[in-house]
Amino acid sequence: MNRPVNFSAGPSAIPLEVLQALAADMLNYKGTGLSLIEVSHRGKTYEEVHNQALSLVRELLKVPESHSVLLIGGGATLQFSMLPMNLCPPNGCADYVRSGVWADKAIAEAGKIGRVNILWDGKENGYTALPTPAAIKASPNSCYLHITSNETIGGVQWKSFPEAAVLAADMSSDIFTRPIDVSQFGLIYAGAQKNFGPAGVTLVIIRNNLLKHSPDSLPSYLSYAVHAKANSLYNTPPVFSIWAMKLVLENLKAKGGIEAAEKRNTAKAAELYRAIDESNGFYLSPVQKEARSPMNIVWRLADENREAEFLKKAAEAGLEGLKGHRSVGGCRASLYNAVTLDGVKKLTAFMKQFEDAS
Ligand SMILES: *Cc1c(COP(=O)(O)O)cnc(C)c1O
Repeated sequence: MNRPVNFSAGPSAIPLEVLQALAADMLNYKGTGLSLIEVSHRGKTYEEVHNQALSLVRELLKVPESHSVLLIGGGATLQFSMLPMNLCPPNGCADYVRSGVWADKAIAEAGKIGRVNILWDGKENGYTALPTPAAIKASPNSCYLHITSNETIGGVQWKSFPEAAVLAADMSSDIFTRPIDVSQFGLIYAGAQKNFGPAGVTLVIIRNNLLKHSPDSLPSYLSYAVHAKANSLYNTPPVFSIWAMKLVLENLKAKGGIEAAEKRNTAKAAELYRAIDESNGFYLSPVQKEARSPMNIVWRLADENREAEFLKKAAEAGLEGLKGHRSVGGCRASLYNAVTLDGVKKLTAFMKQFEDAS
């Protein structure tokens, strides 16, 4: 089978070994005679998978005892609302950094729940840069300070983070791709479909002393305290997604964990940015160098009229998912954990060939 190299932004590439393991166990899970996705989520077979997924998160991210690990449905999008609903009392105010399209969506949702204070706004400059962490100061009495560690559409990434009493981060597009110090954060959330599995499950890591803020009046599913108390089994969890997530994390661990993943990701990003920078302006990166994301690399052709042709020929050459987000156009390659350096080299070779033929 000749699979294309998959540069999709999300859902996105999953290690082939994981897809094969899922296929092999789909009909008869470990000799039980049934599929894992047709048995009780309260039974021993599923419970083991569930708890292994949770403990792999703890192990790989070195989550301290002070923090709880939750698995919830609804995507990162539901977290845009759950965060203010749980951590900001009526009349409270939360700080946000508007670093891109995703931060902007988080701000819009938080604004429906309470007051939002924008500490820094990158919109006017087309979201091509980030502030220095030291320039971001939480306002007095804010419930939390929200950042987006990696902007998937604009292609900017924080290299280090601002300080705040409660720092909350949307890490949907770069969690498990580089080491982080979880103790720096009050709350982290991330949908699985960029770096650790299929869509359907969202990871939330929350400092235990924040769980008391979840109001009793909240609908149960929307309460972090309810999910924490139930070990993320308050209701039927997304069992397939959690099973696949467990396999992806085992695969990551077997390949040397997050430190090794970061080395691979750095090499992949260097390869592609080099191809852009050394094209004598044939390809252009709009992103300020210090803020460049190694995960989502965006570029334009100097001759924008040729982008459609570039994308079409790339797809014919087995390079999939390179179209920029519909809101910005251009090209984007998402180099998540499951994309290999070999795959990136196929792309840079194609780019050079396209350039030379022009
Ligand atoms: C993909 C993405 C989201 C949205 O995730 P859903 O699971 O579709 O809700 C939010 N934030 C960032 C940074 C993303 O990359």
